[in-house]
Order: sequence, then C-alpha cells, then structure tokens
Amino acid sequence: MIITRQKPQEKIDEMVAPYGRVFIVGCGTCATGCGTGGEEQVKAMAQRLGSRAIGWAVVESPCDARINRRDLAARKGELEGADAVLCMACGAGAQAVAEYADKAIIPALDTLFIGKTERLGRYFERCRACADCILLETGGVCPTVRCSKGLINGPCGGQVKGKCEVGDYKNDCAWVLIFNSLKRQNRLDAFRKYRPPKDRSAKARPQELASR
Ligand code: SF4
Ligand code: SF4
Repeated sequence: MIITRQKPQEKIDEMVAPYGRVFIVGCGTCATGCGTGGEEQVKAMAQRLGSRAIGWAVVESPCDARINRRDLAARKGELEGADAVLCMACGAGAQAVAEYADKAIIPALDTLFIGKTERLGRYFERCRACADCILLETGGVCPTVRCSKGLINGPCGGQVKGKCEVGDYKNDCAWVLIFNSLKRQNRLDAFRKYRPPKDRSAKARPQELASR
C-alpha cells in the first residue's frame, strides 16, 4: 500500500486560501486504508472548507486514469466550475487527477512510502521500488529499505544484539533478520552469495512501463 499522511491543516488552509471554489477528490484504495483520504476524511475536509467546497468524490483508485474517467465523468460540471481540486490521495493519484481535471491541484496528503499495514495507523516501509528485487536471496527481507545503510552484501559492524546502530538501536538489523530467515529456511548458501551492485540505470527517471 502507498502510505500517506495528511499535511497539517494550517498548511492545507494556506494552499486553499486563494481559491473560492474547491472540488475534493479522495481515494477509495490506499488513502482509505490509511485513513487519510477515505469518505470520512473527505467529508471532514468538506466541512472544514465550508462553502468553498462545491463538491467531493471518493474515486476508487485515482492513480488509474481509466477509473478517473469512469468515476469523475458524472462530476464534470462541478469540476469545471471549480477553481482548484483538493486531492486526498498519494502523489500518483494527485497527478492523475490533475491531468484529468486540468485545474490547480492542492495536494492535501504527503506520500511517505510503500509499506506494510500492521493495523490502522501503524505502517512500516517495506519497498523502495528499486526495479531489481532480490527478496529471494534475502529471505524475504528487503535490505534496500530495512538496512539503514542499504547494504546488500551482509551487515556492517554496527549491529549489537540484533539491533542497528543507526537510530539508537531501536530497529532490528536487517542483515540479522535476513540471516535468521534464511537459516529457518535452510538456505544459508544465499547469505554467503556475493551480490554485485544494483543496476541503477534501471532507475532512470521518470520510469515508464508499456508492456503492450
Ligand atoms: S529489493 Fe526491496 S526495494 Fe527492491 S523491489 Fe524488492 S522489496 Fe522493493
Ligand atoms: S547494523 Fe545492520 S541494518 Fe544497521 S546499517 Fe549495519 S547492516 Fe544495516
């Protein structure tokens, strides 16, 4: 899931201030899961904006141009009458909505990371979309994200009792997790394997995938 956090309300108020008529778009998928852009939060935002809010919609997945066309077509009149669109979705969603509406876009959320949900309000970063996934070799634990130094060939000298020196020994050392996972799976040969540096050229930005 894409993990988002709402910007401070004062910051949102500041961004909204120049616009008299604002249409609000929420996200029915990740931002609903995060409790940052679901119906409840969108309604609360509409209430906060008062008469400025001329309408709102929670789009099933606003990062999908097809779903925007499907879910926002019936709201075209309201969107056209708006001076700006306030989007309660991740950055990808906000950009897709901006393209669809062709209006000033007010991003109400900050996009933090791709993460695992433990429960509502408790999320852990798990993937940085490196385009070169090595989870098979690392026991299902991502060293790019979970090792503070992003090491891909075993631990540094900074772990103490399985905890990482970065962040004052609060987080588990990724390479201890990797070792333990591979040991449980009887696959320690993967731990000893040398991994060449990742091919960063695969990360030329902006990335694009067009398989058909
Ligand atoms: S190695 Fe880590 S950052 Fe790269 S794709 Fe796999 S989980 Fe994501
Ligand atoms: S202690 Fe472990 S997680 Fe922390 S930087 Fe070193 S290898 Fe990475």
